[in-house]
Amino acid sequence: MLRKEKAVIIGGGISGKLAARVLSDFFQEVIILERDPEPQGPVPRKGTPQGEHIHALLFAGANGLEELFPGITEKFNASGAVKINSTQDVAWFHHGVWKLRFVGDYTTILQTRPHLEWHIEQYIKSLPNVTIHYSQIVRNYLYIEEENRITGVEIIDCSDSIRTINADLIIDASGVSSLSSRWLNKREVHIPEEQVKIDLSYFTKTLQLPDNRNRDWAIKLVYPNPPLEKIGGGISKVEGNRYLVTFMGYHNEINEKEILKNDNGFIEIAKKLPKLDIYQELKDATALSGTSIYRVPNIIWRRFDKVNNLPTGLLLIGDTICRIDPFFGQGMSIAVLEALALKKLLTNHNQTNQQMIETFHQQAVKIITPIWNMVITEDFRYPATIGKKPAGLSIQQWYAKNIFLLSSQNQDIYNSFIKVMHLLSPTSTLMHPRIIKSVLKRTIYK
Ligand SMILES: Cc1cc2nc3c(=O)[nH]c(=O)nc-3n(C[C@H](O)[C@H](O)[C@H](O)COP(=O)(O)OP(=O)(O)OC[C@H]3O[C@@H](n4cnc5c(N)ncnc54)[C@H](O)[C@@H]3O)c2cc1C
Repeated sequence: MLRKEKAVIIGGGISGKLAARVLSDFFQEVIILERDPEPQGPVPRKGTPQGEHIHALLFAGANGLEELFPGITEKFNASGAVKINSTQDVAWFHHGVWKLRFVGDYTTILQTRPHLEWHIEQYIKSLPNVTIHYSQIVRNYLYIEEENRITGVEIIDCSDSIRTINADLIIDASGVSSLSSRWLNKREVHIPEEQVKIDLSYFTKTLQLPDNRNRDWAIKLVYPNPPLEKIGGGISKVEGNRYLVTFMGYHNEINEKEILKNDNGFIEIAKKLPKLDIYQELKDATALSGTSIYRVPNIIWRRFDKVNNLPTGLLLIGDTICRIDPFFGQGMSIAVLEALALKKLLTNHNQTNQQMIETFHQQAVKIITPIWNMVITEDFRYPATIGKKPAGLSIQQWYAKNIFLLSSQNQDIYNSFIKVMHLLSPTSTLMHPRIIKSVLKRTIYK
């Protein structure tokens, strides 16, 4: 039976929609407030500009999505998404070697981010107790200071009219530019933050490639070998038989003016990659779009779990908590795992209370910690990266490098890495004695 509770969710991105789906099983009324106008199809949105770049959905994310939205994978596939084998159909040059290719147990879904969101949104619209209000900017909280409790939100719409909504639970899913962190900062509630400066920029175009029977991959990734190489790229098949091509450069290595100077600027960047494979594809491609640009100056982890005086009634989720380096494509899958954790908590609590919210924030820490450690281990290979280095960094980097190199020769090790990367196994899987033995053997006999 549904509880007599009402929830408001700020932001109708991936996390907001996932949270709405979870709450719909427990709350009488769920309202998503989204600042963008209603999308008229699977097209890019201003509120999620990162969505124009390659967005792969990893295995744990896809599984969780299917659990929350039964039948959605079929919907993705029916409208052109490309379900691939994560080891056979991915050609991946990483740390100077090509990873092995074999038919493994795991799959990845390739599609544009707007396509993915569109299908989720159609499902949400079919839920009788969830409504999405578009073109609504949440700009303030309704707050009872004496109780330190948030009781609702203040919204401004496109015609500048202001209204308020009260709710029993407010979920902030507004992403990296989160309303809550700005609001709390103004009230001098200190949110401990971990920030790592990486100055990463993404440049993406949509392309049509000529048919080629010899093309034996669905996504090809050519990653830089740090610290000397800073530019990488990827080319990924997506729905509509199109391809997205993304170049990414750490520490502002890609010169935006050079890319945009003429039609050739984009293709020329492909020559700076460690391998010319992507350049070879681009030579004969037809551009279907202009160049989209997205910058990630810092990755950031807001430790709401450590705030003692967080107002009651407020739960944070997704990129609002942590924006991770998109290097391994894990952000959306983190959001899915957080939504599943929320579902479990709501199942075990008869009523939403502060203890449940705090437990959720602690569980988000457990989901994020291993992923954060994995990506910053890579980010700190560049001396220009600024931030708090984890303990034992050089040993971790040495070990990870060996795992990456062995992934080009040892199927078992690559498979274990894939399980960790796809958020199916803990990082400790890579510390199994048989893997340690292979790493040591490689170091001794190299
Ligand atoms: C370049 C790049 C590539 C990436 N590639 C991948 C990938 O391959 N795989 C992967 O899993 N992840 C990837 N990610 C990460 C992924 O994009 C994010 O983790 C994901 O978008 C987080 O979703 P979210 O809903 O938390 O936030 P967002 O997607 O940012 O959504 C926030 C929503 O809130 C709305 N909003 C904001 N403020 C307000 C307000 N005040 N009032 C009302 N609405 C508001 C916005 O309009 C938006 O709709 C990538 C990220 C980047 C930057």
